[in-house]
Amino acid sequence: MDHVSHPEVESPESAPVGPAEQPLSQINTLLSQLDETADSPQAASDIAYQDRLVQSRLGVAGSLFTALRCKHAGTASHSLRVALGCSSWGIALGLSDEQLDDLEIGALLHDVGKIGVAERILAKPDSLSGDDIALLDRHRRMGKEILCSCSTSQATLEVVEYAPAWYDGSKQGFDRRGTDLPLGARMVSIVDAFDAMTTDRVYRRALPVERALTELFECAGTQFDPELVTHFANFQSGDQDREHHQARRRWLHSLSHDENSMRWQPGSSACVGEALIPEKLFHQKLLDNIHDAVIYIDANLQIVAWNRGAERLTGISSESVFQKEWTPALVEMHDENGNVITAADCPLAYVIQTGVQALRRLKIRGRNGRQTGVDFHALPVVSSDGVTHGAALSLHDVSSEITLEERCQSLHDRATKDPLTQVANRAEFDRVHESFVQVHLDSKLPCSMIICDLDRFKSINDTYGHQAGDAVIKSFGSLLKSFCQPGDLVARYGGEEFVLLCADCTNAAAFERAEKIRVAFERITHDVADDKVVTACFGVTEIQPGDTSETMLNRADRALLTAKDMGRNRVVQLGTGVGMTSETPMRRWWRGARFQDELRLERELVAMVPIQIAIEKLRGFVADHSAQIVAIEDNVVQIKIDEGPKSLRRRNSDRPIPFLIELALSEHHGVDEDTSQQGPSRTRIRVVIQSPYSRNRRARDVQNRAERVLVSLRSYLMARDANRSRHHGEGVIRWAIRLLSPWTSNQTS
Ligand code: GH3
Ligand code: MG
Ligand code: MG
Repeated sequence: MDHVSHPEVESPESAPVGPAEQPLSQINTLLSQLDETADSPQAASDIAYQDRLVQSRLGVAGSLFTALRCKHAGTASHSLRVALGCSSWGIALGLSDEQLDDLEIGALLHDVGKIGVAERILAKPDSLSGDDIALLDRHRRMGKEILCSCSTSQATLEVVEYAPAWYDGSKQGFDRRGTDLPLGARMVSIVDAFDAMTTDRVYRRALPVERALTELFECAGTQFDPELVTHFANFQSGDQDREHHQARRRWLHSLSHDENSMRWQPGSSACVGEALIPEKLFHQKLLDNIHDAVIYIDANLQIVAWNRGAERLTGISSESVFQKEWTPALVEMHDENGNVITAADCPLAYVIQTGVQALRRLKIRGRNGRQTGVDFHALPVVSSDGVTHGAALSLHDVSSEITLEERCQSLHDRATKDPLTQVANRAEFDRVHESFVQVHLDSKLPCSMIICDLDRFKSINDTYGHQAGDAVIKSFGSLLKSFCQPGDLVARYGGEEFVLLCADCTNAAAFERAEKIRVAFERITHDVADDKVVTACFGVTEIQPGDTSETMLNRADRALLTAKDMGRNRVVQLGTGVGMTSETPMRRWWRGARFQDELRLERELVAMVPIQIAIEKLRGFVADHSAQIVAIEDNVVQIKIDEGPKSLRRRNSDRPIPFLIELALSEHHGVDEDTSQQGPSRTRIRVVIQSPYSRNRRARDVQNRAERVLVSLRSYLMARDANRSRHHGEGVIRWAIRLLSPWTSNQTS
């Protein structure tokens, strides 16, 4: 059935021998051995034999055939059969050696493009779908591309290129038809189809020869050259032994290695294009369908591509600008500030000149004639040898994003800014202050806050009206802003009260700043109020260990009230600051503690101040923590405090935890019993902190909060740990404790 794969070749004795071969008896012997091999039915499927044929015929280009066999052995065998079949038929047709060369090589490599076809298609058991056939066709053209890069024979290339063409020109993608198609291509087309039909395929069994010839005749005139089909059918029906033998002899003995090699040299890479680089198709697809405008400009600023996106964005058609010079005026380009961009400062020309990409937000004239915001992104196109070929420009319409950005910004402003003064509002202050405190406590950096309140402001409103009052409030807000440093925040806390958070700033520095603000404000005369001067009070405090945003704010507020009490137009500061307390060995302390039903934390502190000052400090602690004095008995004070933020209660862990703090205070004079040293009066405080919640809440959370309460208490009392001494104070200092009493009644009332 398969005439090529199971050749019935003539014996060497009966083969016609040309005059040139007669003296070469040695070679003849070898030949006869070879031909014996070739006579065996397995010969054509014997890889070693195939290799010899291929190497003889292709020389160095045999590697292409090997590559094809590695990809798909069946296709390689088919190619060899087609080539040998063409060769025999060509001899029968009386083709010249040169024609035979091009025909044989073309036939041998006509399917080399299948190197690029997916295995799933090559091995598909069913007939191919339309898409698969299209893929196969595209990869057939790849064969030409592969040979382009190494073949010097145009005729060979044409055999490969046109072999898939149809005789009547009805197949797309070919510019020749009929006898304009190379003879070799028309022959390969027929032998290719014949071999395909007469051998088993993955998708069907081999057809009988007669049936295959009938098929060829049916397609004669459309797919195949009718004359050649007739000749081929006659050739198939006749005795082909002579031609087969001659073909083999030609391949194995007549071909000169040198001549063969001459055919293979680095060829033109110019034709390596589309088929070999499918990415090009991807690029084209993307360019055609991407929503953004994409414009290619060559080095002379000529427009070489203007995609549909560009047409859509600008309303300018591709035809009207193709190969025209690019200028910013073409799209009425304006910069961010609305200034016209001239040709002299064209960003695209700059990109080509400098080879540096540019990304800017610009405005162009949109399709509807309105200015449209675009993200202009131009990339220089530079080849590997450093030559700039032009630039690729993308324009992304951001008009809708701008509106959205603006709306987001305005929403954000509304949510965070005070509309009258344009400083932060109360909500923003609360949010920032919380993290401000956390960040500074974690980093152990100082930070301070200044809270300000205009003095006797009601009278301004009453005398000059609310609008005049507003103007004064605005001018105070602006003044505060002018005293801000990076990281600071000014907020309108409410009415005519403002807060200034001073990042990385100590009490002393904040005090100094508040004083400067006070003086500066005092010097302003307000024309809305008959050039009257308005003054303000300032409460200043620095963050201290154990603080929460609430205790810090309360302390500053206390300072402010003190300033008011002291006669207004002044600055008062309160608090110990971060530097006042030593490192807390809390961890060591906690390690020894045992938790049973409830948390209990004991500690002895020493404040290096007399007891009345310690009690004064304790009042600050009570006030700023919004604590309650539960009992005072002898020298023992019991305080209840809810530790944790009171404003944010989103999560369970945010909720305050109640703590009962018991403090036993005692004053010591003169000689320290432990050190036997003379010293000033100081106060010893035994502290017990308890919480009933340790069972229900996460123990770690309760511990941390109790720890913070203790740290804060120590900061307020300006105390340190009395590590060695376990003495409790002797004697009750009733008068000192009484200091707390008026305040106690306030709290509990
Ligand atoms: P003090 O020195 O004790 O602070 O006296 P004061 O009159 O300023 O008293 P207080 O701070 O309690 O009064 C604040 C006044 O500020 C009350 C109100 O008339 C006025 N005020 C609050 N918000 C605004 C505002 O938005 N615009 C104007 N014009 N006045 C405001
Ligand atoms: Mg006021
Ligand atoms: Mg006020």
